[in-house]
Parts: sequence; C-alpha cells; structure tokens
Amino acid sequence: MDFSLSPEIIALRDKTREFIADQIIPLENDERKSHHGPSEELRRELVGRARAVGLLTPHASKEMGGLGLSHIAKAAVFEEAGYSWLGPTALNIHAPDEGNIHLMEEVATVEQKERWLRPQVAGETRSCFAMTEPSPGAGADPSMLATTAVRDGDDYLINGVKWFITGADGADYIIIMARMEDGSATMFLSDMDRPGITLERNMDAMDACFTGGHGVLRFENLRVPASDVLGEIGKGFRYAQVRLAPARLTHCMRWLGQARRAHDIALNYVSRRHAFGKPLAEHEGVGFMLADNDIDLQTSRLHIWHTAWLLDQGEKCNYESSRAKVACSEAEWRVVDRCVQMLGGQGVTAESPVMRIFTDMRAFRVYDGPSEVHRWSMARKLVHAAGKTSS
Ligand SMILES: Cc1cc2nc3c(=O)[nH]c(=O)nc-3n(C[C@H](O)[C@H](O)[C@H](O)COP(=O)(O)OP(=O)(O)OC[C@H]3O[C@@H](n4cnc5c(N)ncnc54)[C@H](O)[C@@H]3O)c2cc1C
Repeated sequence: MDFSLSPEIIALRDKTREFIADQIIPLENDERKSHHGPSEELRRELVGRARAVGLLTPHASKEMGGLGLSHIAKAAVFEEAGYSWLGPTALNIHAPDEGNIHLMEEVATVEQKERWLRPQVAGETRSCFAMTEPSPGAGADPSMLATTAVRDGDDYLINGVKWFITGADGADYIIIMARMEDGSATMFLSDMDRPGITLERNMDAMDACFTGGHGVLRFENLRVPASDVLGEIGKGFRYAQVRLAPARLTHCMRWLGQARRAHDIALNYVSRRHAFGKPLAEHEGVGFMLADNDIDLQTSRLHIWHTAWLLDQGEKCNYESSRAKVACSEAEWRVVDRCVQMLGGQGVTAESPVMRIFTDMRAFRVYDGPSEVHRWSMARKLVHAAGKTSS
C-alpha cells in the first residue's frame, strides 16, 4: 500500500489547513445560524470564500467543475476541512451533498448532470437524500422501504413519508428511494418545489452543523417524469451502496478533523491549567487520556487511508467501509468525550468549542448505518467466508 501524497495534494492539504484557520474558524460565532445549522446566507458566504481560493467542491470531477480528487487525496483534504464545523459547508463537501454529488457523477444522465449536478458543484444549489421512514418503513433495515412509486402514463406517482432528511429545508433537489410494484427499489430525482412535496417540519436534533437541519417530508401523488429516474428502474439498493460506501468514509474524514480539533484544545488546556501543584497534563490520569486520544486519532486515520486506498484501486469496499465507519465513529467519539472530561466545566459549556463538537458528533454512530448493524453485517460476511474456506 502506498499512502504517499503527490506534491500537489500536499500543497492542497496545507492550503486547506490555512484557509480553515484564517477564513473559516473566525466565522464560527457568526450569528447567521439557527439551531439546525448555518443559515443559507452564511452558507453562501462560506462557499464564496472557498470558491475564491479554488477549494470549492474539490471531490467533483474536473469536467463538472471540481478538482477530481482521489479517495486518498480526499482523506488528506477533508480532515483539514473538518477541523472547523463550518469547513465542510464551505468546501461543499458536507453530507448529504458530498454523497449525492458522487452518486450523480456515477449514475446520472448527461441531461440530469447539467440540470442538477453542475449548479450544485458550483455551490449555487443544495440537495437532499430521502431514504429513511417512520416505522414500519425503512430505517436501519432499508429493505422495509414503504414509500411507493407507481407508473402512471409517462410518469411515476410517489407517495410516502420520509424523516431525518438532512438539508431538506431549502434544498433545490431531492433523490428519493421508493418501492416499485414488483418490490424492487428505484431512485427518483425531483426539484423540491414540485407540487406533491411537503416539508412538514424540521426535527429538533442534537447536532447543529447541517444547513437545513433534518426534515420530515410527505410525498402525496408527487408526479415524476420517467426521464427523472436516476439510473435504472429496480436498481435503487445497488445505487445506495454506490453512494454509501464512499459517503461513510468521508464522514470518518470530516469527523476526524473535528476530533483532532477537540484534542488540540484539550491538550492546550491541560498543558497550562494547574491542579495539585503541577499542570494537569503531568497527572498520570490526564496524560493517559492524551495518549489514548492520539492512539484513537491515528487508528481512525489508518482505517480511513486503508479503505481510501482500496477504493482508489477500484474495490467496492462495502466490508472495509463498514469496518472503518464503526472504528472511526467510536474512536473519534471517545476522543471528544475524553476532551470534555479534560476541560472540566468548560467542556460542557459553550465556553469551549468542544461541547459543540460533542453534540454534533453523537449522531455519527447512528446515521449511515448504526454501529450494531455494521457489526451484524460484518459478522455475517465473516461467517459466510469461514464456511466457504472450511467446505
Ligand atoms: C442526524 C441524522 C441525519 C440523518 N440524515 C439522513 C438523511 O439525510 N437521509 C436519510 O434517508 N436518512 C437519514 N438519517 C437516518 C439514519 O440513516 C437512520 O436513523 C438510521 O439508518 C437508523 O434508522 P432508524 O433511526 O429508523 O433506527 P431503527 O431502524 O429503529 O434502529 C434503532 C436501533 O436498533 C438497533 N439495531 C437495528 N438493527 C439492528 C441489528 N441488526 N442488530 C443490532 N441492533 C440493531 C441499532 O442500535 C439502531 O440504532 C439521519 C439520521 C440522523 C440521526
């Protein structure tokens, strides 16, 4: 495995680090935000700053207006962007847009790309991805998909309810997973202002880093022309994997940046703050937390880089991306939790950015597959492989 970076990628990583420090972190206390995330006005300013320095949507293909980064290059750049919770929004690499851009690049037609993808890569529009539904619909188990799509002449009529849809409020277009009459699943594209789509409400959530928050959407006889089917009819679950394997990994990259930031803040604090006659860092109990943080940060980085390298070799990496997602979401969470502890009272107040990182990060162990589901799926694959070997 070769993790070496080209001089261009090293320069891009360093440029991102500098950009986040000089232009994005100073905006973290900007008032243009709600408890659901940065406002559209703030998002536009952040995106404008990234555009001005040539860092906007770096993962998109050069043809669409991006920099065409490899997965390894993304690992280097996204960790730096993640150092500020506003960084991924600025670079246009936050969920769900980052994953949707990847999926659209892979599956959309030329016309669909021109209509929806190109303005999105330019940072002018936003999208959302609608899979999850209230019980008894799709959740941890996507096969329980209950939203239906029924053919009606040249169109499809979509009916159902989706929730937790990140960025729905203010999104320009949506990718909807729906069940066909034969039980298979299909992805549909739609502008958000079509009749038949209602944003019922935004959910109050622990995190506050996604523009548009997390919405509940109702589809009532939403009419989608056959030309707006994304990819082929019946291949929705396969495309979900095309989107999810790399999208899980980019979450790991961005949250690694946030965990590193929390660690840097805590390290600075315990090096200066004294208790019982010496700096906190010189007490063994605190020093062990610092060492454990470093181990967890580096373990996360190695999982990310290993899986990114495999993706760059053209491997599908469903198993490896599950493993990386569990390892990173839990290790990065442990880092931030230790940082809260090391900061004492400040760790649980907005006096320090660490509280914010803590509340923003918790959901990472649930979305894009809860840890338990990834472990369960990995175990099935391990048992299956062992059966093959022994027979
Ligand atoms: C902040 C946030 C943003 C999200 N954004 C989006 C989005 O943009 N679009 C979208 O479609 N969805 C989104 N989701 C939904 C997310 O993907 C689901 O919450 C997740 O898949 C779990 O589904 P559920 O909430 O219905 O949990 P359930 O399916 O009810 O599962 C609840 C819990 O049961 C346990 N469990 C389930 N299956 C197993 C098993 N086999 N073995 C052991 N334990 C198990 C797990 O602990 C799981 O957390 C988002 C969620 C959050 C929290």
